[in-house]
Amino acid sequence: MKEHYYVALDIGSSSVKVVVGEKFHNGVNVIGTGQTFTDGVSKGMINDFDQAKNAITDTIKKAKIASGVDIDEVFVKIPIADTHIHFTEDAIRFGGEATEITGEHIEELLENVRMNDSAGQYETVSVYPVSFVVDSLHEVNDPKDMIAEESLAVKAGVVSANRTLLINIVKCVEAAGLTILDVYSDAVNYQHVLTDAEIELGAVVIDMGLDLTQFAYYERGSLKYANSVGIAGRDITLDLVDEFNTSYDEADQAKEQYGHAFFDLASDEEKMMLAQNDSGQPAEVTSKDLADVIELVVEDAFMAVFEDLAKNGINNVQGGFVLTGGSANIRGIKELMQDLVAEKVRVHIPNQMGARKPEFTSAISVLSSGIMFDELLEYVTIDNYDDYPETDSQNAVNDDQEAQPANFFTGLFAKRKEENELQVNRDEDSYEDDYNYPDEDSVEESQADEDAADDEYEDYADDDAEIRSERPEQEPKEQGDLGTKFKKIFKNLFE
Ligand code: ATP
Ligand code: MG
Repeated sequence: MKEHYYVALDIGSSSVKVVVGEKFHNGVNVIGTGQTFTDGVSKGMINDFDQAKNAITDTIKKAKIASGVDIDEVFVKIPIADTHIHFTEDAIRFGGEATEITGEHIEELLENVRMNDSAGQYETVSVYPVSFVVDSLHEVNDPKDMIAEESLAVKAGVVSANRTLLINIVKCVEAAGLTILDVYSDAVNYQHVLTDAEIELGAVVIDMGLDLTQFAYYERGSLKYANSVGIAGRDITLDLVDEFNTSYDEADQAKEQYGHAFFDLASDEEKMMLAQNDSGQPAEVTSKDLADVIELVVEDAFMAVFEDLAKNGINNVQGGFVLTGGSANIRGIKELMQDLVAEKVRVHIPNQMGARKPEFTSAISVLSSGIMFDELLEYVTIDNYDDYPETDSQNAVNDDQEAQPANFFTGLFAKRKEENELQVNRDEDSYEDDYNYPDEDSVEESQADEDAADDEYEDYADDDAEIRSERPEQEPKEQGDLGTKFKKIFKNLFE
């Protein structure tokens, strides 16, 4: 059996993180990680293209060495900054013909939602199902293998984000020589840190990083709301700089080694010397002194989160609050939060060996999103086309695409559809071991609809579809009728 690796890239304001992992039972097994601190990113946005690109390249190198996996394809996260969520419904109809629902139907539905959704400077990033309704009757989370005669409908959430933010992240990742398989908003990713009970009852994940405190609210199994506030780790350090008349680096180090977020519990016996900006004499400072400053900043961030939640009608968080991100390392953060709210509070630290730091939460949950969508849509991924064949159907893709409203992801999406034309199938019952690879100069077509599964989800960066897992030694399946497959997809897309 061949391993099927997932690689996640988190371009954070403080550091770029890469996690290489694989699906393991119901979770993720981490194989290797990389992390590079950078000044190229600020408030979750690329602000120095070259620095950010170099940090990405370096981090990928580190992750390659750590994992022993060759990395050229990644899942990328985008932060919850200038992000919107709304809900919509869509359906496909079967006209009385008994139809077994496959991942391909689900893909069609979600892509219909994506294509129909375009809003000014915002870009649809993630479309996630809240529930499916089979024949207007049965509401289920995953309708695969069910039989429908009339319709399959989806109630879907749509996460859209600032277009500039997104384009620059995508460009930078491509410039680092990587192919993007998909982009997921952290709003979608954080669901993976919650337990079933939390996500059902209603819980808030708060990721406090360097520049952003991102938060997302989930209830009855899915994402309901997400936003971010601009008070985070940098503000803590800057306030320490002001208060103790020291340098940024000195204050940062003091924060990370001796910092405490809850004044009542901080020790006045833990002491350190802080170099002073305007004197050769360092000053003695205790943990309690630090806590006096830190508590105020962290409380400000939390209050801003609560205010925003309340403004959006989220007053009752029965499943509790889950704190994560680099700044959740700070001692006393849980106690401070617990002092502010009646609900349960916990800090989430990933439990995977080699990645047991809350700053890796986002990257690891990107992997979980990749696995989740792969399973829902029955994706398999694929293969090299060094010489991408020009076909009539590709031209038709482009023609059709031109009729669509301008949308950054429209191009990406159409490209993915082209790749789907060149897809390989997998058999029904094996997930990792059954990819089919077409010859480089031939075009593979799906088999009968029942076992067809679309492959490349996002692969627009490069004209060549790249290999995502190593090529198993398998015979390609028989070639099918590309035109038929093509029309089938686009009938559902554009009508
Ligand atoms: P952002 O999410 O804001 O774009 P990022 O994802 O790069 O940035 P993280 O890596 O999650 O941010 O967190 C970085 C922050 O965590 C920094 O402010 C750093 O000082 C802080 N941090 C890391 N370790 C500790 C610690 N032990 N105590 C306090 N703060 C810490
Ligand atoms: Mg972050």
